[in-house]
Amino acid sequence: MITVDIRNIYHFNRKKFLNVVSKKHMKRILITGGAGFLGSHLCEKLLREGHDIICLDNFFTGNKNNIVHLLTIPRFELIRHDIINPIYLEVDEIYNLACPASPVHYQYNPIKTIKTSVMGAINVLGMAKRTKAKVLQASTSEIYGDPEVHPQNEAYWGKVNPIGIRSCYDEGKRAAECLMMDYRRQNAVTTKIVRIFNTYGPRMALNDGRVVSNFIIQALQNKKITIYGDGSHTRSFCYVDDLIDGLIRMMNAEDDFFGPVNIGNPGEFTIMQLAKLVIQLTGSRSEIEFLPLPSDDPAQRRPDIRLATEKLGWQPTTPLEDGLLKTIEYFRGALEKL
Ligand code: NAD
Ligand code: UDP
Repeated sequence: MITVDIRNIYHFNRKKFLNVVSKKHMKRILITGGAGFLGSHLCEKLLREGHDIICLDNFFTGNKNNIVHLLTIPRFELIRHDIINPIYLEVDEIYNLACPASPVHYQYNPIKTIKTSVMGAINVLGMAKRTKAKVLQASTSEIYGDPEVHPQNEAYWGKVNPIGIRSCYDEGKRAAECLMMDYRRQNAVTTKIVRIFNTYGPRMALNDGRVVSNFIIQALQNKKITIYGDGSHTRSFCYVDDLIDGLIRMMNAEDDFFGPVNIGNPGEFTIMQLAKLVIQLTGSRSEIEFLPLPSDDPAQRRPDIRLATEKLGWQPTTPLEDGLLKTIEYFRGALEKL
């Protein structure tokens, strides 16, 4: 029996899912990695728009609790499957999100990580070729590695270490981008590439290990805030609702706009600034602890989003403080249930 975990239905309102678009506009959409952090929000948003959703996941970092509230909706299907193996489905669109995203998780089994990106891309592209579905690849700012160009625009090819501990993720995602472009040129598959910059929000896993969830959980527990390095590294943090809006706009854009396109929030903060803000917003008594910086950790990151704004009419609307408050509320509830 599945127990519904109400932590994950913090804003769930079943009535919102009852509107069905006309059959003519309804699409059957596959979301790989659909039970993960971003995938579960995408499932919800596209269900609300009235589409048929197939959520595929092997539950490596995803969780049934993220989508259990959707299981009773007839337009929602859940398939436990590992995307490194082929699967035959009839779909109109594919959002390819399957891949662990946190450094802790993608470095846990690096060979599996690169297989997921490369073989996963081949499998969804094969499906798209057969069914004439459109494919959107969830790529990443890690494509730019430790960037020498700042902010990063899509024309920059990046500075990636091909043999380091982050390579399984960075090079896997770069190979997936290559596959998207080659299937497009060689097989006329309609592909789209979105480079996602650091995104945070409710439903990040408690053991995710990325900086926003780590700091919030540590602050709520009055434990030491773990800064890797001296806190001068920068990141730009996008709230999940803004990101999901960007993904859907890209999928719906004209087929001849295939990207890559950056989606992220250009507000840039040092890790020290983030730590102080989280302590302030949680009212925490936490102190800061400095730990060694992992190798190849990019020193700076900030998206140039002019292309997304021009082509998709997209820009983020959630300031960091507002997004953090919503995320803090989520984690406070999650920790109380432990
Ligand atoms: P997540 O770890 O919460 O979600 C990934 C999902 O993929 C999980 O549900 C996991 O179980 C599933 N998965 C992993 N390997 C799989 C496999 N072999 N077969 C089937 N399912 C598998 O991470 P997320 O933050 O939701 O990221 C989703 C996607 O967006 C990833 O592709 C990630 O690389 C990309 N992305 C995310 C961010 C971010 O800041 N959140 C930034 C850049 C790129
Ligand atoms: N980081 C940190 N403390 C943590 C987790 C991460 O100082 O507990 C730092 C990390 O070294 C990096 C930044 O925060 O400089 C963002 O890390 P994250 O793992 O969230 O994502 P990345 O952008 O590195 O993939």
